[in-house]
Amino acid sequence: MTSTRIRFSQGAFAHLRQRLLADPSREAFGLLFGQREDAGDTTIIRVVASHFPMPEDYESRSLAHLRLRREYIYDRLVDMQKQGEADTLIDVHTHPFCAGGVQFSAHDDADERAFHHWLTEILDLHYASLVLSRSDYAARLWERHEDRSTPRPARVDTQTALEQWPNADQVRETSKHDDAAMHPHTGFLARSVLALGLDVLRQIVHEQTIAVVGVGGLGSIIAEHLIHNGFHQLHLIDHDRIEITNLNRIVGASLQDAQQERLKVDAVRDHLLRINPEARITAHANGVEEPELLSALANCDWIMLATDNHASRFKAQEIALRFGIPLISAGVNISVDDGRITDMSGEVITARWGDRLCLNCLGRIAPTRIAAETIPGLSDVLSQRGYVSGQDVKEPAVKTLNTMLATLAIDTLLNQFTGRQTQAPILVYENNQSPCIYPDHDSVEQRPKTCFHCG
Ligand SMILES: [Zn+2]
Ligand SMILES: [Zn+2]
Repeated sequence: MTSTRIRFSQGAFAHLRQRLLADPSREAFGLLFGQREDAGDTTIIRVVASHFPMPEDYESRSLAHLRLRREYIYDRLVDMQKQGEADTLIDVHTHPFCAGGVQFSAHDDADERAFHHWLTEILDLHYASLVLSRSDYAARLWERHEDRSTPRPARVDTQTALEQWPNADQVRETSKHDDAAMHPHTGFLARSVLALGLDVLRQIVHEQTIAVVGVGGLGSIIAEHLIHNGFHQLHLIDHDRIEITNLNRIVGASLQDAQQERLKVDAVRDHLLRINPEARITAHANGVEEPELLSALANCDWIMLATDNHASRFKAQEIALRFGIPLISAGVNISVDDGRITDMSGEVITARWGDRLCLNCLGRIAPTRIAAETIPGLSDVLSQRGYVSGQDVKEPAVKTLNTMLATLAIDTLLNQFTGRQTQAPILVYENNQSPCIYPDHDSVEQRPKTCFHCG
């Protein structure tokens, strides 16, 4: 099934709505520059810049009508060519006379079809459009089919559900959802509804797809938490098989799984489906970098990163930034010296597109480790020189620490739906002198101000 998503960076869609709907007595207009990426049947358009006309740029304007001066559009096209990275023009206008259930008018259809025709004749640009009522939106991408301009419905993606607005087309299509899971007496999520509220649970159950990268000691608990919290659509990504020494911490893995050397993703998927047979869980025995995963990842609303492999952390983050997907990364550390634990800690990092921070500028990905993990033979050289510990060194691991960090990661995710707590990009858990959780402001403040990856 084809899917077209217009994705906004953190805060950008709320800003657009506020700006365009400030004056309810007249239609308003905005022009967005986007960057298009196609992955399989999925088209992602990331909004990279927005422009708003000045009063003098309007030729005429009223409650149910607007016309811009042609020069305004030409000038923006020149801007776009100069900027270089953008390849999609997205026009946005309002129907302030409409309280909800917004639709493009016949006028909009005719204007946009003509504009698209003109745009594709003279420039090699893509064209999409958005219309806002006072409470919802409709969106579409224009395409050429057999010399005709045809619209394809699109949806708007924001970084967090808190900023999301209803898609009028989707509401019209699926007004009667099967909310059996949320039924107050017989639904398995009844107690979650009491805690988080029905609106939050509806979003979680119906609108979210989550990728879990790495389903080992940390990722399997994250995946189980996701199912218990009502997330119904998951992609589990890991190419490892279960070993006997994994059985002290992988949720859902049995002795038999280890004896048969089953894939971690298969064992964890089976476990999750026993909890919720309605869930749609896809097991991918791939590395996150493999091209067949791109389309599934592009469609995800969040990436939960739970691998200690630096190469796959780097790759997952690269994909997140390329498609504008928000990411939560969890990691643990146990240091043992001479039989004594000298450190037991972990951290959860939230990197939404637009936050201007990522695992690279926070110094959480080490280039030497990536090299050691990806270049055959290099690991031994680097470990001899003391850059990395040998690849075959088994790290200490206990489930209690993993459970703490997996819980912190899921609480952080849920907070993106409820907004209950202040957003902290880095949360640290330490279990040394005494257990404690605190936000790491220093790492955030001390990161380089410009980043090649997320800047
Ligand atoms: Zn209109
Ligand atoms: Zn960065």
